[in-house]
Amino acid sequence: MALTLCTNIKDISGIGDSRARVLSKLGITTVGELLYHFPRAYQYRGNVKTLVSAQDGETSSFILKIAAPPTISRTKNNISLIKFIAYDDTAKCTLTFFNQNYLRSSYKTGSVYRAYGKIVKFGKQFEIVNPVMEVCDGSVNLLPFHPVYPATEGMSTTQIFHLIKTVMSAGDKFIEENLPDDVIKEHGLMSRCDALKYIHSPESFTVLNEAKRRIIFEELYLFAQSVYERKDSSRHGISPDMTGCDMTDFKNALKFELTDAQKRTLNDIYKDMTSQKRIPMRRLVSGDVGSGKTICAAGAAYISAKSGYQTALLVPTEILARQHFSDLYDFFTPLGINVAILIGDMVKSEKERAYEAIRTGNAQIIVGTHALLTDHVKFSRLGLVICDEQHRFGVAQRESLLSQGEGVNMLVMSATPIPRTLAMVMFGDLDVSVIDTMPPGRKEVSTYVVDKDYRARINEFMRKEIAAGHQIYVVCPAVEERTAEELPIEALESPETAKEYISKTSSEKKTAVEYAEHLQKDVFPNHTIGCVHGKMKGADKARIMKSFEEGKTDILVSTTVIEVGVNIPNATMIVIENAESFGLSQLHQLRGRVGRSNKKSYCILVSSSSSKTATSRLEIMKETSSGFVVAEHDLKMRGPGDFIKTRSGAIRQHGQIKLSLADSLDDVKLLYSAFESAKTHRQI
Ligand code: ADP
Ligand code: MG
Repeated sequence: MALTLCTNIKDISGIGDSRARVLSKLGITTVGELLYHFPRAYQYRGNVKTLVSAQDGETSSFILKIAAPPTISRTKNNISLIKFIAYDDTAKCTLTFFNQNYLRSSYKTGSVYRAYGKIVKFGKQFEIVNPVMEVCDGSVNLLPFHPVYPATEGMSTTQIFHLIKTVMSAGDKFIEENLPDDVIKEHGLMSRCDALKYIHSPESFTVLNEAKRRIIFEELYLFAQSVYERKDSSRHGISPDMTGCDMTDFKNALKFELTDAQKRTLNDIYKDMTSQKRIPMRRLVSGDVGSGKTICAAGAAYISAKSGYQTALLVPTEILARQHFSDLYDFFTPLGINVAILIGDMVKSEKERAYEAIRTGNAQIIVGTHALLTDHVKFSRLGLVICDEQHRFGVAQRESLLSQGEGVNMLVMSATPIPRTLAMVMFGDLDVSVIDTMPPGRKEVSTYVVDKDYRARINEFMRKEIAAGHQIYVVCPAVEERTAEELPIEALESPETAKEYISKTSSEKKTAVEYAEHLQKDVFPNHTIGCVHGKMKGADKARIMKSFEEGKTDILVSTTVIEVGVNIPNATMIVIENAESFGLSQLHQLRGRVGRSNKKSYCILVSSSSSKTATSRLEIMKETSSGFVVAEHDLKMRGPGDFIKTRSGAIRQHGQIKLSLADSLDDVKLLYSAFESAKTHRQI
């Protein structure tokens, strides 16, 4: 039978039912899945040393000749020991193997091997325990890298290596190219076949990196393709006729001059909604808190109302619903457009009245919470759904509203600044408008990066702010909430390095609870200090937040769990401990908690790291107040793999993308060009 990538793994000779079962635990059921089971790391065996030149404790390769047959003995615990004496031009050395008596006749006297392992030196005595031995007589080409695979019980990394070797030795004709020729040429990519060969058996650093680049590109390209497909299929139906809508009254009603970014966004929206093509709008507006997204939403609602259709504005909280309702009511009433509100916290008769107005079409713009998603709500002529703070709503919830009319337009607003290309990856089914400038006159938050030597001065500063009647946030990283996924890529070489990383960093970290206690007892005995963290019950959290909101608490110590939307204008200072352990975008979000009034506000980033790169990364926070600039830096420094992984669990859950290697993608340009190529080659 001819081998293909779809061949069942059981059809490979040497794989029976039980091995197939173990492999399926690794997600491997076909030949293709086996070949796409990529190494998680490589051993570098190309570093060949002589016995004398290697340092004590160094792991490297040695070219050694076996001097004599082995001696066999037993330890006190009845472990068998088999020892070979081997030598090179500089010295001799003992090769010791535990419990591997079968090796007795494996290594022949006079034969030469490449032994890879850790050398231990006691004076003139050298020993390598359990080295990896490879024949080195010129008959085989010894590779400098050895792949280490994600393995599981019953299937070791070595077994996987040999399986892949077996499959590849069948010739590689069966691996068909899956990228268009001109894309390969344009980006100077390796063929799929070579890439799969070299990712498992790289001959050099260069070849390894080229193979990796090709495979990451392929993953991104195929992902981009699926994104575009999804986008095309989600826009079924013909959108309501809003062609030729006149915006004059809307423009005349504006109380301020729009920023260029707002004009661009409104223009995008106008084009989508009034196009003769009548394709339903699916647009994401991404902009920092305070960048002025609401007026863009209002513009969209205006187009819908003027064309005879209703708009549902879905918001996550009742507070936000009330706020939006009151703003939109003031804006639209003079224009003769009716605005209504529907939230859970309304008496029955009020609700009934709202349902009625929605059903008859008398209410043209309806602001509401989840209450809008109940069965009582029946729209007369729904033309547009707007979701604010989209991350709180599931796709299913949006869909249930959209299904109330044919070809209903949708606008989603996100307060998380994401670089445009990444937004395309993360919200693939949406077009993206970016509001990357702030309305004029916004006060910047003064940002400082300091180390712990400044502790006394920080405390002094905090005291002054409290004396002025202001409040302060103190943020500590949540050690117990960290997961292996949040470790930097470079720490994920192996479980050991990850463990080492955690133990090294967590000992320096303050937990919110301990730190709050310390501040209360030792530093601010006369002030009120509250503490919230992720492990707390909802009611307790609410009580402490309320006390802070009401100004009864001076300092709120927290992990990053504090509500995204909290708005406490009297808070003028945020101190972020161990700032180096946060992503820049996360720091930016945290900084957005202050500077919400006309009072001067401060953000203090305390870094206990002595590392230059850690502190210079933080300097960016000082230099810019733009969430997009910050996000771009994050992207550049941490790579999109990290970005994608930590922020878009949703994408993975959809099973749309494997991105197994792209997790370590550090080249932003590759991401961009994969999307560009996929777009150009899109079949419509
Ligand atoms: P967000 O993007 O967070 O939803 P908003 O739309 O609520 O921001 O706008 C924040 C504040 O800025 C509001 O008070 C709004 O009236 C004001 N604003 C928005 N755009 C402008 C502008 N172009 N010029 C001046 N003020 C503006
Ligand atoms: Mg808003």
